[in-house]
Amino acid sequence: MMLSPVTDSHRSFDVVVIGGGPAGTTAATLLAQAGHRVGLFERHSFPRFHVGESLVPAVNLTLEKLGVRERMDQIGFPQKHAVQFISPKGPSRPFYFSEVRDPRMHNTWQVLRSEFDRMMLDRAVECGAHVETDTPVIAVCSEGDAVTGVRVRRLDESEDVIDARLVLDASGQKGVVARERSRQKLIPGLENTAVYAHFEGVQLDPGIDAGSTLIYRLDAQSWIWFIPLMGGVSIGLVTSAREILRFGQNRDEILQSAIDQCPALLERMSSAAVIGEVRVARDFSYRATVDGGPGWAVIGDALGFIDPVYSTGLLLSARSAEIAALEVTCALAGDQHYPNMHGFSTDWQVAFDRFLPLVRAFYTEDFRFGELSKHEAHRQGLIDLLTGIVDTEEAIGVVDKIQQMFDDEAASKS
Ligand SMILES: Cc1cc2nc3c(=O)[nH]c(=O)nc-3n(C[C@H](O)[C@H](O)[C@H](O)COP(=O)(O)OP(=O)(O)OC[C@H]3O[C@@H](n4cnc5c(N)ncnc54)[C@H](O)[C@@H]3O)c2cc1C
Repeated sequence: MMLSPVTDSHRSFDVVVIGGGPAGTTAATLLAQAGHRVGLFERHSFPRFHVGESLVPAVNLTLEKLGVRERMDQIGFPQKHAVQFISPKGPSRPFYFSEVRDPRMHNTWQVLRSEFDRMMLDRAVECGAHVETDTPVIAVCSEGDAVTGVRVRRLDESEDVIDARLVLDASGQKGVVARERSRQKLIPGLENTAVYAHFEGVQLDPGIDAGSTLIYRLDAQSWIWFIPLMGGVSIGLVTSAREILRFGQNRDEILQSAIDQCPALLERMSSAAVIGEVRVARDFSYRATVDGGPGWAVIGDALGFIDPVYSTGLLLSARSAEIAALEVTCALAGDQHYPNMHGFSTDWQVAFDRFLPLVRAFYTEDFRFGELSKHEAHRQGLIDLLTGIVDTEEAIGVVDKIQQMFDDEAASKS
């Protein structure tokens, strides 16, 4: 992979980005393309494993801006044309993205994150960002309220202070700056845990359905993701952190027992075997209540995360990075040395709030996609949301309808 050499001129930047995941690399590439001096520091060496493999098509628009859309097929990521929900009562009709109006979003990709994140990091370097991997940020530097830079540690154990007019925290769930300053709040009722692995020898559907995401619902609290990847399929159980041990005592047992409880999935897996290890992730949903301040802003998972059921993580991460990059460009043109980024994420918050009721609805006892999508406008709204489009009349109509359902239920209980 491409890396930048370290020289004395790399101790001061317009913008320092913490973390080389999709949020960090999106912001670094856009800011470097806009002519800013950007330094990105990533604690791991790449390629590295990461969960979060299914894109929604609205991400394509960001990939286009970054200049990497063509590379997705060149790398060979499977194309994803649809998502389908399978409950114990039977499957929904697949939701094909070709039903949305904009042809740029008629399909997207399922990504092996080691390859995807490496490609994104390479793009940031190509566009002029200075990138150092194996270099964790170990402290945030400040003067009064303002963040003035970061302290990093390199592989040889040497430490450096890196100055910046703005520090973007894209360090994911770690939230290096976010944990100190953003007052992250858990979203109650979505305290879930995921147990997952890659499998080989799994039977896929034929034709364009081969790359679809399948969501197998076990009960109101538990479901399994099925994401076809290059050379395997990612399969993961998501369930309430309180319920997880009812599936088994260790991670291998938990995942196998969940699969065993799902006949529709089991029949695809008669010749399947795990590749590598079974992993566990906490996927609690949360959001920052403060998105930025003088000299700093948080983006990506550091800003917030919603349950993975609709694969919205990378979309929201990329969106927050795009919004931040635009705001940073305006802010750096002003005369504040450490511009105040407080409130930059309003549009991102709107998107988050539109997905949240749909996520909550999924975890209710009697939620069925088929029921909601019987009404044509609601079906269109659902497809828009599953594509990652949150601002059409139909998408807002679905969100309002679900919210109404929750309000009526609350009123009937009071
Ligand atoms: C179980 C589960 C399933 C998911 N499935 C999906 C899915 O199917 N589709 C989807 O879109 N999203 C999914 N997500 C969400 C997705 O993984 C995240 O939204 C996405 O990775 C966030 O990108 P990011 O760049 O903000 O953070 P990350 O991708 O986590 O990147 C953060 C980077 O910061 C680095 N870092 C951390 N600390 C430091 C430090 N101190 N110094 C330097 N670098 C540091 C890390 O090494 C990492 O590379 C899922 C999440 C979970 C938990």
